[in-house]
Amino acid sequence: MIIDYPADRQLNELVLNLFTCFAGLIFSNILSYGLERQRRDLFQTKLELNNALMNSPYNFRKSSQYNGHPAFDSVATEVSIEMSDISTVSPDSSETTMEIDIELEKVDSKSNIIRKSDNDFEKSMSNIRRSSSKKGIMSIKEYLNIVDEYNWPIFEFTIATNGKPLTQLMEHICITSGLLKRLNLSEMHFLNFIENIEKGYHKDLRFHNSQHATDVVHCIYYLSRLPKIRKVLNDEDLLALYIGAAIHDHDHPGFSNKFLQETNDSLAKRYNDRSVLENHHLSSSFAILDKKENNFFSSNQTQLYNDFRSSVIELVLATDLALHVPILQQFKSRGAQFNPLTINEDKNLLMRLLMKCSDVSNPTKNFETIYSKWINLIMKEFYRQGDLEQKYFGSVKSPFCDRKKSDEVGKCQKGFIEFIVFPLFESLKSFESNFNDKWLLSNRERFSVE
Ligand code: AMP
Ligand code: ZN
Repeated sequence: MIIDYPADRQLNELVLNLFTCFAGLIFSNILSYGLERQRRDLFQTKLELNNALMNSPYNFRKSSQYNGHPAFDSVATEVSIEMSDISTVSPDSSETTMEIDIELEKVDSKSNIIRKSDNDFEKSMSNIRRSSSKKGIMSIKEYLNIVDEYNWPIFEFTIATNGKPLTQLMEHICITSGLLKRLNLSEMHFLNFIENIEKGYHKDLRFHNSQHATDVVHCIYYLSRLPKIRKVLNDEDLLALYIGAAIHDHDHPGFSNKFLQETNDSLAKRYNDRSVLENHHLSSSFAILDKKENNFFSSNQTQLYNDFRSSVIELVLATDLALHVPILQQFKSRGAQFNPLTINEDKNLLMRLLMKCSDVSNPTKNFETIYSKWINLIMKEFYRQGDLEQKYFGSVKSPFCDRKKSDEVGKCQKGFIEFIVFPLFESLKSFESNFNDKWLLSNRERFSVE
């Protein structure tokens, strides 16, 4: 039977059907648009997050825009925990800064001394904390009285200075010594400058903080006072060496050049992958010096300033270990002709050698009181980078940065001594036989079995 609908009813149904279809289409479009948008948003967030982490691992701790985002939380929480765990170079936390790792304890099974000395140190540090005093720590003046010792107690000096070892040591060797006066430079501006430089070192890094800069200043101070070297250097050279050492790792982010390049960091882009960190340390330091209140040169000292600037640039760029072999080759190729007293090029080469030696001098120091503590600190910083590599790349790419391979600490030191430290100090000693390499030789022996 055919039901004959009235025409207007048919029309109504048709409109209704069309509307339903249309509405369904619109709804499904809205739905799929919404889903698509959500998907794109999620993708965008991931992309931004990835960029934030990849482009600037250096800055990502400072950035708060992703805080609280679930995607960020899952990636970053663990990293932040590790970072907040990182101690600062202040007296309260130095006991964690200087603790000797279980990993390091394993390095040398012969070395009960490490464990013992560290336990002693731990004990004394917790005593310091408990009594809220600096028991066992001498005054700043007393440490400065023994500053001529090669195995100078740098870690204790950091505590004595309330975490400002760089300013105190620089004041001593540049102002108290009369160096700035002899060069007619402003002591007040110099103090502002060095205080600001010290502030620019990251307190939350284990190794590349102002304690390391102080150590390099101390070493270069010691080496430049050895009799034969002393004769070569004038006051301008000494100033360039001390300030070069003081600024040489300024604003170090705690990652290697290679890591910054591979993660496409903004610093690597700025310096075209060439000596990225070294260029940054220089440019951030000279930006501080450029400020009126910090500039210790006066307007009529243009020549002095220009020479100082070019020396400091050469010195800091020379600390890039990628240039290690060519610099060493350059020195060796001079052979018996090397004469820094009369040939300016040779003097510059010697100064770069002094800078390089000082930067990597920790294996040339007493193992129990100094070197073992530096190893612990550098390994912690390496592992911090390794943790980040694990998150970015899914594996730890850089050698000796994998905390699961802590049994490689000895191998790392062996390679470091054999390829970097020993050849450098051997070259230095070929010019300055007064350098005492007894600790270097015993440390070399210690790690030779690895
Ligand atoms: P710098 O970054 O200017 O301090 O250059 C020195 C580099 O030498 C560091 O970044 C480390 O890679 C390396 N280094 C210094 N001390 C040690 C050490 N004890 N063991 C392994 N590598 C070291
Ligand atoms: Zn350094």
